[in-house]
Parts: sequence; C-alpha cells; structure tokens
Amino acid sequence: MPTRDEQLTERFGLPSFYPWQREAIDALLDDHRRVLVVAPTGGGKSLCYQFPATVLRGTSVVISPLIALMDDQVRSLNDRGIEATYLASTLDFDELRRREERLAAGHYCLVYIAPERLRKASLVSLLARLRPPFVAIDEAHCISQWGHDFRPDYLRIGEALEALGPTRVLACTATATPAVRHEILERLAMPVATTTVVLRGFARPNLHLEVEENDSMATRRGHAIRAVAQALGDPNSPGGAAIIYAGTRRNTETTAAALREKGWRCRPYHAGLDPALREEVSAAFADRSLDVVVATNAFGMGIDRPDIRCVVHIQAPGSIEQYYQEVGRAGRDGQPAHGLLISGSSDFGFRRRLLELSHTGEQGSVDPVHAKHQWNMFLDLMRYVEAGSCRHDFILRYFGDERETLGGCGHCDVCEELDGRDDGRRSDDLSEEDAIVVQKALAGVARLRGRAGLAALAASLHGADTERMRQLGLTRLSTHGLMSDRPQRWIMALLRRLMTAALVDLTAGDYPVPFLTAEGRATMMGELSPRIIVPPERVGRARPKRPARRKQAPSGLDKPRDGDLFEQLRAARRQAAEERGVPAYVVCHDRTLVEIATARPTSLAELELVHGMGPARIDAYGDLLLAVVRAVVEPAPP
Ligand code: ADP
Ligand code: ZN
Repeated sequence: MPTRDEQLTERFGLPSFYPWQREAIDALLDDHRRVLVVAPTGGGKSLCYQFPATVLRGTSVVISPLIALMDDQVRSLNDRGIEATYLASTLDFDELRRREERLAAGHYCLVYIAPERLRKASLVSLLARLRPPFVAIDEAHCISQWGHDFRPDYLRIGEALEALGPTRVLACTATATPAVRHEILERLAMPVATTTVVLRGFARPNLHLEVEENDSMATRRGHAIRAVAQALGDPNSPGGAAIIYAGTRRNTETTAAALREKGWRCRPYHAGLDPALREEVSAAFADRSLDVVVATNAFGMGIDRPDIRCVVHIQAPGSIEQYYQEVGRAGRDGQPAHGLLISGSSDFGFRRRLLELSHTGEQGSVDPVHAKHQWNMFLDLMRYVEAGSCRHDFILRYFGDERETLGGCGHCDVCEELDGRDDGRRSDDLSEEDAIVVQKALAGVARLRGRAGLAALAASLHGADTERMRQLGLTRLSTHGLMSDRPQRWIMALLRRLMTAALVDLTAGDYPVPFLTAEGRATMMGELSPRIIVPPERVGRARPKRPARRKQAPSGLDKPRDGDLFEQLRAARRQAAEERGVPAYVVCHDRTLVEIATARPTSLAELELVHGMGPARIDAYGDLLLAVVRAVVEPAPP
C-alpha cells in the first residue's frame, strides 16, 4: 500500500503536503473528523478535498459556488485520469442528465455541485442513495449571513448533509473571522468539541502594506498612478500587472482614462458593463495584453495572474475580509508586491450611502441587524486605516491567526516608520514622551473599572468637568485630567490605537467598556514597550490656523461650554422626540448626550463611537446631533 506522500506524488505530481494540509487530511481520513480549513485563496485548500476524494471508496461530493473554477478543476483532474465531474445550471439539460446518469451508476469519485442544484429534491435523494463517504463545502463563508458573500442557497447545505450522512465533512474558506467560523460550524452542524479547525497561512510576508489618508479624490487618483508606476516601471515594458479598486463605476472609468493618458494599457471593469465586454477585459488581463485594470469589487473571483505587483484601493472597501481578499491578489508568485489603501473621512459617508442603497435596492429590504453588522465590519476596516501598529499583525489578529503574528513585520508603513528612527533608540521603542503618554492612557483604562465607555474616558483624561462626568464618578479618578495637555479627540484617537494594538479591549454587550489586556497591563507597568505610533499631532486641533489660542485658553473655559453643549443637545433631543411623538429616551439616553458633549464628534463615524449611538440612531438623529455639536465647536464667524 503506497503512503499518502507517494499517492500525492503519483496522482497530483506534488512532492509533499504542506504541514497544515497534512493535519487536515489526516484528521479527515484517519479520525473521520469534521474539519474546518481557513487559509487564504491560492493557499492550497482544494487538495484538502481532492486528495481524500481520490483515496476514498465511493463518490465524494464538493459543493462550490464558483462554476468557472469547478470546470477548470474537473478538467485538470480528468487530465490526471481521475473521474470527476460537476453539476451546475450553466450546463444544458441533456448534458446534466447524462452526468446524473453516470453519477447514479457510481462512475465518479468526485462530483462538484453548485449550491443552487440543491434546490432539486431529486438530486439530493440521488446523492443520498450514493452514500458519499465525504462531503466538502468550499467557500463555506457563503453560509454566513454575517459574511460579505452570503448565498441563500448555502442554507440548504445543512439539510442536504443530514440526508447524505457522510462520515467525513470538510468546510473550506479563505475569509472567516471567529464569528463567521462559529456560524459555519453551527449551520453545518459541526460540533465545536469534535471539529478540527486548521487555520493557516494568512501571513503574506512578500506583501508590503501601506495606508494613506487623503480626502481629495483627484490626489488619490494621482497617488494611485504613481504607485502603479513605482511597482511596474515603464508603461511600455511593465514588469507585471496592477489592479486599482474604486468604489463606483464612474470612478473606475475616470481613473482608467487617466492611466491610459499616461501610456498604460488599462481598462475599467464593473458590473454595469456588458457581460461580453467584461469577459473581454478579464481575458485580456489574463493573457497579458492588459497591464492595469481599474475595477469595482465585481472584478476578482478567479483572477490568478501570479505577477500582480500592486493592488491599490482608492476608496475603502467594505470590510477587512474584502480588503484582504482583494489585496491578496498581489504577489501570488511570492515576489515582492505592494498593497496601498488610500482612504479618508469621506469614505464613511460613501459607505453609509452604499449600505442605504442596498437597504432599499431591488433585493428588497435588508434586515437592520444585518445592516448594522455590515457597518461594524466597515468600522473594523477603518480601524485598520487608523491603526498605529503593524498592519500585518492587525490583519492576522483580526482573523484570529494569533499564532502567526509577527510582532512587527518590518515591511509595512507603520513598522518602517518605527524601525526607521535612527536617533540611537532601540528600534521598537517609542520616544520617552510618547511611551509615557501611552502609559497614562493605559492607567486611565485601568482606573475606569467598567464605569464608562471610551468617549467618557477620553473626556476624563482630558479633564472635562461636567455635572454628568461627576455623576459617573469620572472626575474622582486619579487619572482625571492626567492628559489635559492633549485635545480630547487626540486622546480618543490614541485609545483607538491602543485597541487596535490589542493593549485595550472592549467588553461585549450593549454598553462596551474598555479594559486592559494582559499585554496592556504589562505595558502599563513598563514591562513591555509598546510598538505603536501615537496619533499625529494635528488630530483634534480645532482649527489648524489658530492652535495657539486654544492651548493658551485656561482649561476652565471648556467647562461651561461642555455644559452648554449638553443643554443644547437636550433641547434638540426634546424637539426630535416631540416631532416623532416618542419619549426622549427613545431618541437617546442622557448618558449618550453627555458623551457627545464631551467627545464633540465632528463626523458620523466619530459619533458612532459614542455609547448608545448605533446605526439606527445615527440614521435617525446623527445629522441633527452633529449639527448641534458643530454650532458650538465651530461657531459661525461674526
Ligand atoms: P485554494 O483552493 O486554497 O484557493 P488551490 O488549491 O487552488 O488554492 O492551490 C493553489 C496552488 O497551490 C495550486 O497551483 C496548487 O497546485 C498549489 N499547491 C497546493 N498544495 C500544494 C503542495 N502541497 N505543494 C506544492 N504546491 C501546492
Ligand atoms: Zn508591520
């Protein structure tokens, strides 16, 4: 009996399994386990079902939504003499029937099924009669209503599994946060206790990650073009390819035109184009007659040019999953590649409008809980933009891939800034002043003991002294006013960075309050030096033109102003409540108003960070509350 490695070489022409493939395959074959594999696209997941299917007796089933990929895989399996086929609605009736007949006769060792086929009860019972030894679900995150790629047909899989009763089940996905992983296991009835989770390979050390904050679309476009030129060189003899992702169809066209003007072989791609035209662009990109594509997120599934040297986003995508998937198309050949994300505060409004459109779009109304979830995923992405700690570690942590975090990768923009300091300090040390500021903020978190949220903590560290702050007991904290030399918005930005660097975490529930992680505690005690960049000084300066005036004003001046603002917010709330005929607390709680008055948010995104301001309240009252804040913070010139 040949060993698995021998079988691998003989059937697939590969020298050996990756260690995580072996872990997954052994768990499936030897222990009849349920296995969930989470690994990036192109990582080698398909071997985890192709290999077991070829060594097991009987017909194994793979459920996959990517028909083009199925076709491709079936062809290369057939080339190796492995009996495989696929069933999808793209096939004509006769062909489908022919394949189903051979399937019923037990002819195949592997059959790929598109999820919409499961709507046919006759197919499900045909499969059930075959008693498949093994069922794999590819792109398993499509089952998650929280994911970015939900497909309702995936909800049929749970039932189908029950009917098929395989002894082995494998779910594969490239993108799954802990919450999505949990949902996959639940919907596929894979018990947490007896399911092997193999989580591997999110680190992409050849990918240089960079973020730039910029609000002008024209500048973003210019910088994107510059990044393409840096990565590919001369447009007449480019070294590789690039993709630029934009949020709107129009933006793809404008940007593509600008690139063509610079001599690049470039075309736009979006869902509004004629399918034939889209096909043409994909084919041209694949056969290298096109070097740059400017696309919406409609472009990507199944792109496998290994020599993509650069992926630029000129507008923020919808989530970290989406970003990681898109930027991950760069550098598949393992050679250096660049991922640049250009974003700015205007992206908040843009994304909100997109979400609102999808609420009222053709697909009917979207569940508000779902909408809130999508908004939260976007906020996670914006935390990535704002993060002052290693970009790679941020993403790895986000996916729960703690084992692979690099403790500072050395090749993202943040690490480069940290490492580039050549003033004699150890490379990963903050300046003494910055380190003390971080310790002060951490001490503030420690003293808070669950009394209030982030915004109130920032206000307290800044030294805000209002009736409400007193009621919350925040003015009595020993850390009250400890950072009075910093603007409150700057403190807030610092606290967010401490969160993204995993020094501070938030409790779960409706009223999340910050607490120190073990690492945060050690940092506060000076046992660890924090590897983060503190926010730039400009953050929170009311008006760049007259920063001195604000600084020189005695801090007591803030007090009546905060009080005023609170009263004005209350008045606005009263009016809104009367207009809608609801009690005032339905609009929002006093506590929320206090935090708004102290945090003084200037955008909906900042408002969202205040306790009790969920998307529904933001939608209903966000603009009203912001207008009140703006009127006080930036009084109209006389
Ligand atoms: P995924 O399904 O995770 O997107 P694929 O299964 O398509 O990725 O694999 C991507 C590439 O990696 C393929 O070209 C495949 O041949 C290669 N590959 C997979 N496993 C191995 C291995 N053990 N050794 C070498 N190459 C591998
Ligand atoms: Zn880094």
